[in-house]
Amino acid sequence: MSSRVAAVIPAAGFGRRMGRSTPKQFLLLNGIPVLVHTLKVFESSPLIHEICLVVPRGMEGRCRTELLEPFGLTKVIRIVPGGETRQESVYQGLLKTSPDVVRVVVHDGVRPFLSAELLGRVIEAGKEKAGAVAAVPLKDTPKYVGDDGFILSTPDRARLHLAQTPQVFPKKILMEAYQKAYADGIDSTDDSALVERLGYPVRIVKGAWDNIKITTAEDLQLAEKILELRHHESGRG
Ligand code: C5P
Repeated sequence: MSSRVAAVIPAAGFGRRMGRSTPKQFLLLNGIPVLVHTLKVFESSPLIHEICLVVPRGMEGRCRTELLEPFGLTKVIRIVPGGETRQESVYQGLLKTSPDVVRVVVHDGVRPFLSAELLGRVIEAGKEKAGAVAAVPLKDTPKYVGDDGFILSTPDRARLHLAQTPQVFPKKILMEAYQKAYADGIDSTDDSALVERLGYPVRIVKGAWDNIKITTAEDLQLAEKILELRHHESGRG
């Protein structure tokens, strides 16, 4: 039986929260575009057989010539134009995975610090149940707040986690979850939420605090610090 695993990398956001004209996935981190840092993790993983990269509509050519070719990224089998929302972008990527793919890993293009180790743990855990999601426990106490700014309740922190990517699911289940979401008029920023709502069991895998999503200008500064620290640590090792 085929055990082909595809990565769908949504990178079709325009980064409006960043306040720059260049989408954040093209911004440079240590001289290399953010998205290339991310793609390299998947390119060098023996657990990933193909990548469907989703980029802003109209930028497919630029992605090929500025990101894939110069950095020798050969596992990207499709460059797919994205949609208005992350959900639409992931779905477009999912539709373009090869017919014999059995498992799909979804990972945000703007999370460049994913380690091969975390990717491996998520894929391994995903084999057991209907899916697995990298997540980190909350450090601060959460508050549920009303429109008037007053606290309504204090949820139990011990049970709460922040979902990250990678997230892995059998392709069949993820397709079903996306099709059902469209049928029900649901639009979510989290793939797992679409699978969970169908009642499938999804497991949490301990994520990493440095697996950050670069969304704002401050995140980019933090990303530069993380890189410096890694560089420093590898220099010592
Ligand atoms: O919107 P957010 O910052 O959470 O985006 C997470 C990931 O989804 C990013 O890699 C972004 O490029 C991608 N995205 C997309 N299509 C959209 C919106 C976001 O592929 N329409």
